[in-house]
This record gives sequence, structure tokens and C-alpha cells, in this order.
Amino acid sequence: MPRLAVPEPPDDLEPELRRSEPPPLPELSETEVLRHFARLSHRNYSIDDGLLPLGSCTMKYNPRVNEQLARLPGFAAIHPLQPEETVQGALALMRDLERFLVEISGMDAFTLVPAAGAHGELTGMLMIRRALLHRGDDRRVVLIPDSAHGTNPASAAFCGFTPEPIASDERGQVDLAALEARVPRGDVAAIMLTNPNTLGIFESDIARICELLHAHGGFVYADGANMNALLGISRPGDHGVDVLHLNLHKTFSTPHGGGGPGSGPVGVRGELVDFLPVPRVVEGEDGLLHLSTDFPRSIGRVAAFYGNFGVMVRAAAYILEMGPEGLRRAGEDAILAANYVRKGLEDVLELSYETPTLHEVVFSGRRLEKETGCRTLDLAKRLIDHGFHPPTIYFPLIVPGALMIEPTETESREELDAFVAAIRAVVEEAHRDPETVKGAPWTAPVRRLDEVKANRQLVLRWEPSAD
Ligand SMILES: *Cc1c(COP(=O)(O)O)cnc(C)c1O
Repeated sequence: MPRLAVPEPPDDLEPELRRSEPPPLPELSETEVLRHFARLSHRNYSIDDGLLPLGSCTMKYNPRVNEQLARLPGFAAIHPLQPEETVQGALALMRDLERFLVEISGMDAFTLVPAAGAHGELTGMLMIRRALLHRGDDRRVVLIPDSAHGTNPASAAFCGFTPEPIASDERGQVDLAALEARVPRGDVAAIMLTNPNTLGIFESDIARICELLHAHGGFVYADGANMNALLGISRPGDHGVDVLHLNLHKTFSTPHGGGGPGSGPVGVRGELVDFLPVPRVVEGEDGLLHLSTDFPRSIGRVAAFYGNFGVMVRAAAYILEMGPEGLRRAGEDAILAANYVRKGLEDVLELSYETPTLHEVVFSGRRLEKETGCRTLDLAKRLIDHGFHPPTIYFPLIVPGALMIEPTETESREELDAFVAAIRAVVEEAHRDPETVKGAPWTAPVRRLDEVKANRQLVLRWEPSAD
């Protein structure tokens, strides 16, 4: 190797901080390390291997061209502290993406800063809290339907609100009568509503719910993580909601799973626009785009810099590729795919609600368990032996033994047929040979895992063994 072109660094480490012996690191060749990781990667299952029907997660195919665009040096190699005049293209992309999301959702303005859906919820609820305080109103109750995503009550509580459950009715929708009795008491700050809800059912009373909350000084927060079902068809802003978060890493087709990076932009309407977090992209009098923090009522910063820019590039690319007709087609095909699966399974699995569903369908495993002793978990594990990733299970909580399936629009009819056939085969097997189903998976690299132990006894780093 060439000699250092700079002075050697001073050797000023305190003697007691020095090792007396070399660390006991494993000695492995490059070939061995490479093969280790290659083997691990083959054990993994991803959307590139097949259908990933996790309900509420919208695991759709991510077009590779979006990856190439996100890797363009002008996007990937810029620095957050670079002078603004040198990153005008990136700022223009952010401005354009905000405009696209405004048009798609019917909201007035967006922030792109939050790094995940749950982070968007936190941001949105902080804005509601600030807007209420600005009115001199310290009300704290946030109503959350019992079909809500688990992050909703957590986000409300983090902002100092008191979450209060509101029941679903026999349609699987918010019980309007219960809401009409509760809201006028005057202490309700907001309702947090997922629409379509986690049963895949459209909350058809949404306009009335918005009127009711507004009439009594409250806000409507819509969790738009399931926007896939509404794309090009219906706009939450037109329903009357005040705050909406979207998940770019679900609806707008950027890779997710494995912990990120994600992006949960938040749209707001009316008086809430003033409270959006900073920085915001603004057009200056000099004709340039700027990241401005000059918004006196803003709730401030909710993340370092301006969010996960690479995700924004992929989402903007996706929206431009699809266009308005393509986005509507995606929404319609997502609904079609889920209903195709619903039709294919409704004679062998039980539906808790007869109401029509949109982008996902939730079956109950209660009857199967009664008849065969096989639980939803067993069915899910046996699907692994058929080469499929299991759907979301035991959520939402209001469906006993829930099996929640969201196929998305990017699956072919052949793939959906194979998935339906696999579930039917497992149900049939559960009646004939329940023990085989209960022991599954038989072909996976690991069998049933002790999930409680995995949570309680985390092993997060390699330790040398005693010998
Ligand atoms: C996924 C999801 C969230 C949370 O989004 P994250 O990006 O995982 O934080 C919130 N609500 C609903 C309905 C979701 O499906």
C-alpha cells in the first residue's frame, strides 16, 4: 500500500484503554463469509419470491426503474447541508410530490418529513393538539374505533391525549349512534379513523362523522395507510377529514419490511396548514426553491433535516409512471384481487361481517378451530410449507382468530389461484389430518419459534464462546 500522504495520527490512547490481548473474533475467509450471508438470504422470503399477503401492509411489487432513479447521483449523492442553489432538482421533486399527494388525497398541503406511518400519526396529532391549544382549548379525549391499527392509540397517548375506544357495529363500521351520543359531551379532541378500516370496509358514514366532530369543536384524523383502496376513486379530503397520513412505503410502492426506511407524509386542511412541521419547501422571490423554517405557528421539527428523500424519489417516480388512470386502475385491481380471494375462500372460511370489502379481507378461524382443533396460527404456519408467506393473523382483535389477507394489485390471477388453492388444501387437511397442520412448518429452516422468549431474551450481538 502507498505511504500515508498525511501525518500519522498521534498515538495518544490511554494505556488502561488498550487491549492486552487481541479480541477473540472469528477467523473466516471471504468465501466463507460470502456463503454465510448468501445462504441466509436464501432462507428469507420477500415480495420478489412471491405473494406477501400481509393484511394492512400493502406489500406490492416495487418497480425496479424506481430503484434506478433513486440511485441517480444527483439524488443519491447529495448532502443535507449542501447549499440550496445546488439541490434545486431535489427540492423541485419534493414540491412536486407534495402537489401530487394534495391532488390524490384532496388535502390542502403536505409535509414529507415523517419517516413512517406511525411517525406521521404522531406529527398529525401534535398538530391537532397545538391547534386546540391555540384556541385555548385543552380537551384531551381521542376516540379510536376498536378496529384501529395499534399505532393509533399509542400515537394519541404520546401527544398527551387520552385514547377512548369506540365500538364497531354489526356492519364492521364505527357505531354512529354511539358516536352521536359521545361527541356532544364536548371533551372530544379528535377521532382517529382508518378508512377503509382494518376489516377492509369503507366507513360509509365518514361525511356524517366529520360533520359531527366539527360541529362539536373536534378534529378528524384519518389514517390513510390503506389508501391503496381509494386511489383515483375517492379522496379523504373530500370526505371532510382534517389530517391524513399516507404511507409512501405501502401505497406508493417503495420497498418495506425489515424496518425501513419509510415515509409517512401528513396532509392537512384548513387552519391546520399553519401548524405543519418545518422545514417546508417554498418558492423564494429569487426564483429559487428553499427549505424554510419561517412558519411561526409550526409545531417545529419532527426529524433531522427533511425526511427520507430516497423514498420520496421512488414514490414520485411511481406516481408519474402510473398517471391518474394508472393509479385508479391500481386501486380497482387491488379491490378486485382481494375480492377474488374472498370469493375463493368464503365457502371454507368464516367471514365475521357480510359487508362488502375493498383492498383486503379478514376471515375468522373460529369455526375451523371448533371443527378441527387447528388454530389460525396452525393454518398460517402450514402455508409456509406450500411456499407462501402467511397473512397477518390475530388482527384486528375484533375478529376471533383473524386471518387478514391483502393480495394487492400486483399479483397475477395465477398467483392468486395458487394462494387460494393452498389455503383450501390446508383447510381440507385440517379436517383429515389435524396433527400435520398443528406441527407445521415442516420444510422451513426453523420450525415454531418461541416468540415470547425471542422478545424477552434478545440476543443482538455476537459473543465469543467460552472456549
Ligand atoms: C402500516 C400501518 C400503520 C403504521 O405505519 P408504519 O409505517 O409501519 O409506522 C398505521 N396504520 C395503518 C392502518 C397501517 O396499515
